[in-house]
Amino acid sequence: MPAAIAAARRPFTNSAAPERLRAFLDSATFARPTLVLDIEKVAENYRALKAGLGKTHIHYAVKANPERAVLEALVAEGSRFDAASRQEIALCRAAGAQPQDISFGNTVKKPLDIAWAFAEGIDLFAADSAEELEKIAAHAPGTRVYIRFLVENSEADWPLSRKFGVPAEGVLELMDVAVVLGLRPVGISFHVGSQTRRAAMWRRVLEDVAKIWHAAVRKGHDLSLLNIGGGFPTYYGDPVEDPENYGRSVRGMVGELFGHVDYVMAEPGRGLVGNTGVIAAEVLLVARKRPSDIARWVTLDIGKFSGLAETMDEAIRYQIETTADGGEMGPCILAGPSCDSADVLYEKRPMQLPVALKAGDQVRILATGAYTTTYASIGFNGFPPLDVICI
Ligand SMILES: *Cc1c(COP(=O)(O)O)cnc(C)c1O
Repeated sequence: MPAAIAAARRPFTNSAAPERLRAFLDSATFARPTLVLDIEKVAENYRALKAGLGKTHIHYAVKANPERAVLEALVAEGSRFDAASRQEIALCRAAGAQPQDISFGNTVKKPLDIAWAFAEGIDLFAADSAEELEKIAAHAPGTRVYIRFLVENSEADWPLSRKFGVPAEGVLELMDVAVVLGLRPVGISFHVGSQTRRAAMWRRVLEDVAKIWHAAVRKGHDLSLLNIGGGFPTYYGDPVEDPENYGRSVRGMVGELFGHVDYVMAEPGRGLVGNTGVIAAEVLLVARKRPSDIARWVTLDIGKFSGLAETMDEAIRYQIETTADGGEMGPCILAGPSCDSADVLYEKRPMQLPVALKAGDQVRILATGAYTTTYASIGFNGFPPLDVICI
């Protein structure tokens, strides 16, 4: 029997994959990279975060994982949704969500999509510019809008760029513009940055937002909606607070800094689905460029263009298990299978993998339920998008 096939049959020992996922993974073989999603865990995460966040309304950020079964499980739990496009709104509707429970949170939208969403019954839109407000006023007249504030004090592992939001002065100006255009500027939104590991890291951002909130109220705006965005973390190996305590701390700070607000909404993505999935993949090659090189190059059958886009800048560091685990470890540069030389996952900080690792060994990439499936290219180099199995 060829060595690669023999290796493929080795079992995983001491897998840290969550129980139900592990049981399924142990019983299955995969012909190509596959994300296995535990739908029950999505519901459990929702309940835990909701227990901490209390009256705060959860609008799941659909982009984190738009899998139908995920959306249906969240609809069943009573979740609401934040959609970024007409297509995401349609996915929510198909999964059973009501239009009044969906916010259209992308601050840059196509006029046709605004008109379509308005016709569907959606009446809550995000904006961070006068031009966007004009589009909304033209195609969804009289609707509610919230203005996105540009967060500059993020302590997140994946801080968001300056692409979205306006600074403090801009928020107030845009509220005035919205009134002139006949819209209802009901509130403010922001995002602390994705994978904000501890609730305490929210404080400075919340203080910045609260200043603008109170200034807007003093100017006479009747604010009723505070959108605290996402940023709730998942476990990638560095400690994170459990969702209930995390949610309770954030809710506490919001209450302390804002006082009573009619409608507080949160838009968790990663925090609801990150730890619900494990990707099963395979080692294609282990090689050294020069005999003297300390780090080996390990090429997997999944990479930056087939689901692991969040390894960009090595911001998100996944935990990886292999069927060769248990012995001595050594540094590896991890690469994906495509012929794009940017398809390198971890090089700045090499990853420790078993010295015995070789082609054909199986790997499990933990906590890959968020930002993987829809971040996969369609057929680049002929590789198919990531396969998904829901259990
Ligand atoms: C992506 C996004 C989220 C979700 O962020 P997470 O860090 O995954 O929780 C929430 N709100 C908006 C507006 C987003 O763009």
